[in-house]
Amino acid sequence: MTHVGSETRCSKCEFLFPEAKAVAEAAALVAQPCPSCGGFGLIVDVSIMETVTVMDGHEMQLKRVGVKKPVVESFSKPSLSRKLEKHVYHERLIDRENNLYHEKITDYQSGETIHEQKEPLTDHVGHGSAKNPAGK
Ligand SMILES: [Zn+2]
Repeated sequence: MTHVGSETRCSKCEFLFPEAKAVAEAAALVAQPCPSCGGFGLIVDVSIMETVTVMDGHEMQLKRVGVKKPVVESFSKPSLSRKLEKHVYHERLIDRENNLYHEKITDYQSGETIHEQKEPLTDHVGHGSAKNPAGK
């Protein structure tokens, strides 16, 4: 969410122009004298405050006709780590065509890698966690 605030004041007496809420409006006032002191010249104070709290993610499966299992499965999404008691970003890629398993867990706020595993999928399947990651 972006909050844009601006204040337009007379540069001489600091009279606040209440109607000038946007830069464009303030620019239109430049040609007018200050109603308080009759002077010309404005100070425009613009503040832009950005508050971003977005947690998004995606999941996808690539299927091929005639192949039962998806050839590629991937997700990239935030999840709550009970162990760490905070939000982490969980990415996983299972690429059956290229025999690749890649899992990465990063700290949601710092971006620091907490866990990363990259190996041939055939090696990973032996762990038994590909199907049931919660059952670790
Ligand atoms: Zn003034």
